[in-house]
Amino acid sequence: MNKLDAQRQKEIQQAEELLFAGPQALGFAKGLFRGHFVADWVMPYPRIPAAQQTELDETLTELRKFLDEHLHPAEIDRQADIPREVINGLGRIGVLGMTAPKEYGGRGFSQMANCKVLEEIGRRCASTSVFVNAHHSIGIRALLLFGTHEQNQKWLPKLVTGEQLGAFALTEKEAGSDAANVQMQARPSEDGSHFILNGEKRYITNAAIAHELTVMARTPVQGSDKTAITAFLVTPDMPGFEILEARMPKMGIRGTATGRFALRDVKVPKENILGPPGKGLKVALTVLDFGRTTFGACCTGAAKTCLELAVQHASTRKQFNKTLGEFELVKKKIARIAADAYAMEAMTTVTASFIDRGLEDYMLETAMLKVFTTERLWECINDVFQVHGGAAYMTDLPLERMMRDARINQIGEGANEVLTSFIALVGMRGPGMEFKEIYDTMMKPSREAMSKAWTAGKNRLSAAIRVPDVPVQSEQLLGHAQQLGRLIWRFNFAVNRALIMYREPILDMQLIQERIANAAMDLFASTCVLSRIDGEIQLAERNGDAASPDHSAADLFLCQSFRRIRGFLAGLTDNDDEAVIAAAKSCLTSLESGTTHTSGIQSLYATIR
Ligand SMILES: Cc1cc2nc3c(=O)[nH]c(=O)nc-3n(C[C@H](O)[C@H](O)[C@H](O)COP(=O)(O)OP(=O)(O)OC[C@H]3O[C@@H](n4cnc5c(N)ncnc54)[C@H](O)[C@@H]3O)c2cc1C
Repeated sequence: MNKLDAQRQKEIQQAEELLFAGPQALGFAKGLFRGHFVADWVMPYPRIPAAQQTELDETLTELRKFLDEHLHPAEIDRQADIPREVINGLGRIGVLGMTAPKEYGGRGFSQMANCKVLEEIGRRCASTSVFVNAHHSIGIRALLLFGTHEQNQKWLPKLVTGEQLGAFALTEKEAGSDAANVQMQARPSEDGSHFILNGEKRYITNAAIAHELTVMARTPVQGSDKTAITAFLVTPDMPGFEILEARMPKMGIRGTATGRFALRDVKVPKENILGPPGKGLKVALTVLDFGRTTFGACCTGAAKTCLELAVQHASTRKQFNKTLGEFELVKKKIARIAADAYAMEAMTTVTASFIDRGLEDYMLETAMLKVFTTERLWECINDVFQVHGGAAYMTDLPLERMMRDARINQIGEGANEVLTSFIALVGMRGPGMEFKEIYDTMMKPSREAMSKAWTAGKNRLSAAIRVPDVPVQSEQLLGHAQQLGRLIWRFNFAVNRALIMYREPILDMQLIQERIANAAMDLFASTCVLSRIDGEIQLAERNGDAASPDHSAADLFLCQSFRRIRGFLAGLTDNDDEAVIAAAKSCLTSLESGTTHTSGIQSLYATIR
């Protein structure tokens, strides 16, 4: 085995340990890659129970009133600061501890209800929604998920009210997308009572205003010369904690405090370890599942604002003696924003419901939600910007700020390229393993191998001949449901073909991975949209409403999404990939000299941001 192969095998083994621990029920996204439609994950469309809905409605009314009176997004952007009164107000309403259990002073809301709250904030001010996300969705999430009762009792009460603030610190100079490459060291003290942390973190939201930071650092693995990442609770009053830069000047979400800090011989008691020692990456991955869900909610809110602004301007601004909305090329943009906003909300709701139902293994769906909603929001903002023409460029309108603010979404909590690769690779692993069973048995037949290969072959064959059933309740949706079923079947066929054709090299073929991931994301988005329309039609029927709800934007989404899926699948065989690689190679001379090497498996690790 050469050095590169050995490195790859090591990476595969580490990725397997990190991502595929234990037997799990087949989730929706993994089901798609096997040609299944796991209906009970996505249908019927999830609804917040009536009692919780009342509490949520009251909270939203209070929140809207507070935000109307006290939140000034343009001022926050200009001053590059969120006033403490705003933070205090959010704390009073409960936003900063929305999903924390009531016994620690939180509101005990479900993730679905929390997403509605974040949507409302994301609708108005991205700085504020990112601040809330950094504090609640990721900052104190590790405590909520992995804290012991003692840790929670000690830390949570002040954090959930906003009296104290939280942050999540993973990124370092050498550990950006490659998060597994954390260099911050945590050495155990001789008496074992504490760890001594050394290193630097950068780009950390809330770093300089937080009272508690969840910090990822590298600890020795007992009985070996290896190290692994462990999560620690660090406070800025610990000697050796130094803020290097409190507010790094930046392009968007300027109200957030993005900072750099150093830990120099900081003694952290062993009681401050969060989750199992050496399992910090797993802790981070789990935390980010929550962060990515509220990311979807914030993007949904911002997309709804885009729609409102586009409609308002297109209905009032006249050129050529017509309102802009009378021109088809403007209509097209408005229709697309409406369609995307509907889909983003549906995807966020369905994904949040996985968390609330305690389902296992929704890592792929949260990654899909993050990539899909951030990419669509970027398009929405570009469209509403264009509809406003020169006015959008002026700082008296919110559009240039919204554009600056939205750009971070495609980079933070996992760059979209990294997550795209992750979606394809993790999704393809299931069918890939089945093909491997079959291949290995053909090469080295044995009784045990034959039985495994037989099961694997049966699974692959049945997915190849059976179009999955998409069980909608409403008769008028049967056509869409059948189309979706057929596209899942075609997707499964395309995945199988890619696996058979490219085998292991597919781990590095990101252009192929991207098409497969994009098709999977649109299949998931279409499913959520179909489920939502179905739920709304059924509700209207139950309520005896005479008129059926207007689903023109949702219908458009399905048409466009189905068309995109067909395009992605066609691109697997009809593409310019060779020309793309050749042109890039001629620019990246270092690639030719072999000094740079990309690895698909590295991307798996990278997803933890
Ligand atoms: C405003 C802001 C707030 C942040 N808040 C936090 C926080 O609170 N906590 C925290 O821990 N971190 C935070 N981050 C860090 C953020 O998560 C990282 O910036 C992000 O993970 C990307 O890492 P990087 O910037 O080092 O980019 P790099 O890793 O250098 O990547 C640069 C680009 O290279 C490409 N790329 C990288 N790897 C691959 C691959 N495998 N395949 C294909 N393309 C690839 C992508 O296009 C990527 O955008 C924040 C960043 C910003 C800008």
